Amino acid sequence: RVKEQGKNGFQFYTPEMNEIVSKKMKLEIGLRKAQERNEFRVVYQPQIDVTTGSLSGVEALIRWHHPEWGTISPAEFIPIAEETGLILQIGEWVLHEACLQNKKWQDEGQPPLRMSVNISSRQFQQSDLVEMIQRILSSTGLDPAYLELELTESIIQDSKHAVTKMQQLKDMGIHLSIDDFGTGYSSLSYLKTFPINTLKIDRSFTSNIYNDPKDASLVETIIHMAHNLDLKVIAEGVETREQLQFLQQRHCNEAQGYFFSQPISAHEMDELFKNQIEVLKT
Ligand code: C2E
Ligand code: MG
Ligand code: MG
Ligand code: MG
Repeated sequence: RVKEQGKNGFQFYTPEMNEIVSKKMKLEIGLRKAQERNEFRVVYQPQIDVTTGSLSGVEALIRWHHPEWGTISPAEFIPIAEETGLILQIGEWVLHEACLQNKKWQDEGQPPLRMSVNISSRQFQQSDLVEMIQRILSSTGLDPAYLELELTESIIQDSKHAVTKMQQLKDMGIHLSIDDFGTGYSSLSYLKTFPINTLKIDRSFTSNIYNDPKDASLVETIIHMAHNLDLKVIAEGVETREQLQFLQQRHCNEAQGYFFSQPISAHEMDELFKNQIEVLKT
């Protein structure tokens, strides 16, 4: 029961470790069936232009509703999908769903929005990523200018042919953003070599603007640096009017967070299009 150290340094599993392992296996088995059982949904979180208060884009976020286990957070299952390689199928499904939905809104006459989709490390490294995205764009008919891919600093850093791949995507007209910016410990030099459009300031900085003057200065500095590099800035995790005002005063371009809206279903987005002014308080 107590973790024993074997002769050769082997460690035996404790009951707690067994529990973690079997929970992971359970999730993995569930994940393998989830797609054919139609248990995934995509929800959309509005991104607002802070100078005009209008909707400029949405971020697509996956949801998994299991009939017995309820809703499982992507923070819990995406890493497992990543480890098992299931992320390739799941990620392709999300991309297709998001592009299809965005085209549908445009066909319905809504003001065109940018659709941001999170790309995980394994997905970015898949050899036919560019072809897969091209296929989705042509089958859905979405103009690539309305697709944005969210990459993290670690993805770019770990990938050998990152610049080439990003340039191919950019040449197709797709936008690229750095998600969770400022949390990745990487050297800043990639900002001048990689074809990036946007930095997304991580929620951990935004949420502390008023509790920690150091976070406030970091946010201020990121906005300033981004603009000097001709990049757009989106602040993630905006929850209060005060945070929004801070960002507006410092000319941050866009904001996203519970202050405006939680991630919502496509159906709820339809409602939002009808009542935009009331919902998106600025
Ligand atoms: P992320 O890409 O940084 O997405 C933002 C997360 O912050 C989302 O959590 C969103 O619901 C949450 N959020 C937005 N505004 C606020 C706010 O004001 N306050 C707080 N407390 N949270 C806020 P979610 O949907 O649980 O996703 C977690 C992470 O899982 C995402 O972080 C992303 O890395 C990953 N993820 C989600 N969907 C996908 C997907 O389709 N593909 C991949 N590869 N990863 C995904
Ligand atoms: Mg994201
Ligand atoms: Mg992300
Ligand atoms: Mg993020």
